Amino acid sequence: MKKNILGKTGIEVTELCFGALPMGPLQKNMDLESSTKVVAHALQKGINFVDTAQMYKTYDPIREAIKLTEINPVISTKSTASSYDEMERAIDEALSALDRNYIDIFFMHAARVNEDVFEVRKEALKCLLDYKSKGYIKAVGISTHNVKVVELASQRDDMDVIFPILNYKGIGILGGSVEDMKKAIEKASEAGKGILIMKALGGGLLLNDYKKAMDFVRNIKGYHSIAVGMVSIEEVDFNVNYFNGIYEENKMPSLEGNQKRFIVVESLCKGCRTCLDACPNLAMEYNEAIKKARINVEKCLTCGYCTASCPEFAIRAI
Ligand code: SF4
Ligand code: SF4
Repeated sequence: MKKNILGKTGIEVTELCFGALPMGPLQKNMDLESSTKVVAHALQKGINFVDTAQMYKTYDPIREAIKLTEINPVISTKSTASSYDEMERAIDEALSALDRNYIDIFFMHAARVNEDVFEVRKEALKCLLDYKSKGYIKAVGISTHNVKVVELASQRDDMDVIFPILNYKGIGILGGSVEDMKKAIEKASEAGKGILIMKALGGGLLLNDYKKAMDFVRNIKGYHSIAVGMVSIEEVDFNVNYFNGIYEENKMPSLEGNQKRFIVVESLCKGCRTCLDACPNLAMEYNEAIKKARINVEKCLTCGYCTASCPEFAIRAI
């Protein structure tokens, strides 16, 4: 599979990055044995880049897959921490749970945070940079849905890698259009930033248009890798084949088992609104009449971030 160097980091990654969100408890909630097998298969098929996050709770299968295969991939992770101490705990957790003495790329996990992200998260960023200077982190970056944040990050010397959202329908993009995001990515790449793209398939909403959606992202200038969430051996094989130039539409894994939807169970919802802040795409709405949250399915990226935020466990994947 084609490999690219992530900007000026010197880190070489495969064009296809294994996205570890969907196998975890926020989405499919696979057991350790099955999820380890899927990650191990991805590594054995040549994917050398795995993306996870503190919030995804998928460090265990990644660690186990590395032990099983003795293949040591590039790992990126991220945390929503905003204080120095919180970020320090997130780094310690990643190092210990992944059983590693360094993390290749550590992102500020800031999907829908606005242009003030570098101000409101400045202590967390300082922590990442301190750990980078001590050798525990190789590269620092930001994951974002916001065009303006991509533009700002591309001008900062402390940002090595940017992880923006991009898909042909513009699902989830904030602060500008698809074209604006494409231009911002191109400029960031010209400025020497590594570019990892997320949600090329719109969080699963564009799966029925797989080739069109992937071709769109692969035709933009300046990206280095694309993170794709995978939950089965068949999905790994299908994606690896596509990135190796073999597209077999008839072999696309059945999507039915993996198509998920999130709902708010009205009888459990206490109307606290916590989930509204957790949603990266403003898909969580509040019905004043009945004082309950509800999900706008037109906007929902099926990321599952809201499930972890609800103190009443009222948000369920079905
Ligand atoms: S966080 Fe849970 S309880 Fe609170 S409004 Fe959202 S769904 Fe309802
Ligand atoms: S409502 Fe928002 S947070 Fe919840 S799954 Fe949909 S996009 Fe993700």
